[in-house]
Amino acid sequence: MKPVLLITGASRGIGAATALLAAQQGWAVAVNYASNASAAHSLVQQIQAAGGTAIAVQADVGDEAQILRMFAEVDNKLGRISGLVNNAGVVDVTAKVEAQSWSRWERMMRINVLGSFACAREAVKRMSTAHGGSGGSIVNVSSAAARLGAPGQYVDYAASKSAIDAFTIGLAKEVANEGIRVNAVRPGLIDTDIHASGGLPDRVRDLSHLVPMQRGGTAEEVAQAIVWLLSDAASYTTMTFIEASGGR
Ligand code: NAP
Repeated sequence: MKPVLLITGASRGIGAATALLAAQQGWAVAVNYASNASAAHSLVQQIQAAGGTAIAVQADVGDEAQILRMFAEVDNKLGRISGLVNNAGVVDVTAKVEAQSWSRWERMMRINVLGSFACAREAVKRMSTAHGGSGGSIVNVSSAAARLGAPGQYVDYAASKSAIDAFTIGLAKEVANEGIRVNAVRPGLIDTDIHASGGLPDRVRDLSHLVPMQRGGTAEEVAQAIVWLLSDAASYTTMTFIEASGGR
């Protein structure tokens, strides 16, 4: 039986690259998406064509009821998970804090923060040896923005990722003796469509001079760190942050 991995926000970008790599390394992968069903299904087909196991699961992680439905669907179709990647995340258009609205913050926090908390809670219920599980690994996708603050662009996004960092530290300690490891990856400037969704399609090119390596990273480079943290090769590693940010 293959170990089962749920990746939120896996229809494109870092989540999709992680799904491909994890499937190659023997995970049965649940590819969660919010709205882009065709991208999620074509990724599943690509994994299956290469001999891997994958399903697509729709759910908006900003909605608790949809998260519960997603976990039930994964239980039924693939079995009990032993891996979770809390990857789904959004930015918003560039704006100073003085111009940001309550509704913008609410959406950002629901998806980036509450969604990750709730998915982790559901994962712990299934993985914890205290609940009859066999342990597992949770990887939260934070951001270098949690350290940098993203002034003038999206301080709210940076703050949402700081919440993920504190959650990673606390949950890692809380479940360390229940067979569950909890770690995070902090990507830097990574070449995905998230920047266009925030109205800055050239953000990676425009800011790459700020990166000591003088380039943006790829989704595949971040996936390598995530899949390592998921794997047994990281068996004594918990409460750790991997900076996949080219030195920034
Ligand atoms: P992306 O290319 O914009 O992809 C986002 C993915 O998340 C898509 O698959 C999207 O699915 C899904 N998604 C969005 N809202 C969702 C929701 N409410 N529920 C479920 N899925 C949702 O993003 P990315 O650049 O790969 O980023 C992935 C993660 O890395 C995020 O947490 C991001 O904050 C973090 N990160 C990225 C960078 C970077 O430079 N790219 C840097 C630091 C951290 P649909 O297409 O179906 O909506």
